Amino acid sequence: MKKVVIIGGGLGGLAAANLLAFNGYKVKLFEKNTHVGGKLKRIQSDGYTFDFGPNTITMPSVFKGIIEQTDKKSEDYFHFKKLDIHTNNHFSNGTTFSFSTDADYMISQLNEMDVFGAKHYKKYLKEVTRLYELSQSHFLPRTFSSLTEYLSPSLGRAFLSVRPFESLDHFHRRYFTDPRVLQSFNRYATYIGSSPYLTPATFSMIAHLELIDGVYYTSGGNATIAEGLAKRAKELGVHIHLNQEVIKINIDNQVATSIKLANGETIEADEVILNGDLLASLPQLINENDRPRFSNVTIQNAEPSISAYVLLIGLNTRLKDLIHHQVYFSQNYQEEFNELLVKKQLPKDPSIYICNSSYTDFSMSPKGDNLFILVNAPPLSRDGTTNEDYEYYKDVIYQKLSRAGLNIRPHIEYEQLITPQSIKQEYNAFRGALYGRASNRRMDAFFRTPNRSKDIANLYFVGGSTHPGGGSPMVVISGQNVANLIINHDK
Ligand SMILES: Cc1cc2nc3c(=O)[nH]c(=O)nc-3n(C[C@H](O)[C@H](O)[C@H](O)COP(=O)(O)OP(=O)(O)OC[C@H]3O[C@@H](n4cnc5c(N)ncnc54)[C@H](O)[C@@H]3O)c2cc1C
Repeated sequence: MKKVVIIGGGLGGLAAANLLAFNGYKVKLFEKNTHVGGKLKRIQSDGYTFDFGPNTITMPSVFKGIIEQTDKKSEDYFHFKKLDIHTNNHFSNGTTFSFSTDADYMISQLNEMDVFGAKHYKKYLKEVTRLYELSQSHFLPRTFSSLTEYLSPSLGRAFLSVRPFESLDHFHRRYFTDPRVLQSFNRYATYIGSSPYLTPATFSMIAHLELIDGVYYTSGGNATIAEGLAKRAKELGVHIHLNQEVIKINIDNQVATSIKLANGETIEADEVILNGDLLASLPQLINENDRPRFSNVTIQNAEPSISAYVLLIGLNTRLKDLIHHQVYFSQNYQEEFNELLVKKQLPKDPSIYICNSSYTDFSMSPKGDNLFILVNAPPLSRDGTTNEDYEYYKDVIYQKLSRAGLNIRPHIEYEQLITPQSIKQEYNAFRGALYGRASNRRMDAFFRTPNRSKDIANLYFVGGSTHPGGGSPMVVISGQNVANLIINHDK
């Protein structure tokens, strides 16, 4: 029986663990934290429950698919509920544009805000569906091992037809004219930690996921997905070791032979899968001369994706204007990204995302709303520091929300601040970035680190910093792809 060691218990690592164990591998997973799920973490305090990380869940079939591939019913592990009107986009002039999979409802709103957009909405949906289907057939199920694979005739053709050379914002201007409508759709760039003015239009396929397939909530909180995957993995015989940090991957003649734990123990392996953020983990775990194609200089020069400034707030009341997901947009989106990416500072007028999962699931916080408030934040500087006054920034957020009619401060029973620094520390995330490398440059957006190391024969990568990219369904796909790569190779 071949021995596989997985470093990190994020969704990517858990997905790979399930499929490998089901296919007869002896799997040991080591996670440095005390919970499974990595950035998808349940936080409970003072009667309030929050999901840190993924609050917006799309592509439920991807999560269900892992359980089903191990011959079990996914409903025995987690349940998804489709949200009807899933996100309210609010603007400073008091207007709101609500997102739903009901195209007629979307068009009726566009008729009030953007007549040109109303006429073109169905065409927009058709085009984002085409982009999604191309990605689904050509890019998502593959593990790329080199640039030349992209240049094969069939992939090259597919690549050229997913609008790689147009920015997301430019693409949206073909279909919509109203600045509020553009801002709402352009926000999809932030789902991959990037700017709509730089990231390729390819990522408008996220609109297909939200506006055709829909946005979902997992009963009991989204962290139930990670718990369900861990439960199934254990049933299949995976040894999940929490609170066990891996400090070294031992390499002999370009082969990973074992890993070393912080407690000094050495664990032998035939295959090693790294689920930690590659830019942060590789320099810590592997000597530089064993990874010539992932040198420290390459890592130093990598542009990190954006980070997040998060407030978890428990209220003693339920605010009447909140639904499950909402965004309170800035007045000038371009300036907001200029501040984030060029000036590298927290935006003066931020777009504020709020998830209130207790709107859908009362049990998450019986005493009042459980607010997950997120503002995009610049990643940390190269030396891991920041000049931001994170405490002061709370005022910026509360004052802006108060102007929008949300009087939060007097009702706060519980407050926890999570900064780019805490994200860096807790998840070992490169400069606090949410998704490893940014997707602002075309090279970084499309040519993410392949899933198999070019330097070490039996070392594989899963998670947000490798192919196909960040976001909870994508990292599960990476885990599935790597498991299949190992299984098929051994066949
Ligand atoms: C604030 C925030 C909001 C987000 N919102 C959404 C959203 O709405 N929708 C969505 O789909 N996605 C969202 N995401 C992204 C999503 O959470 C991630 O893309 C995904 O969960 C990452 O999974 P992963 O497999 O890459 O592993 P991670 O979650 O990064 O987990 C990696 C694990 O490896 C462990 N590890 C690292 N190094 C070691 C080591 N040396 N030894 C042992 N263990 C180690 C870490 O502790 C960590 O638990 C959000 C993320 C954040 C942070």
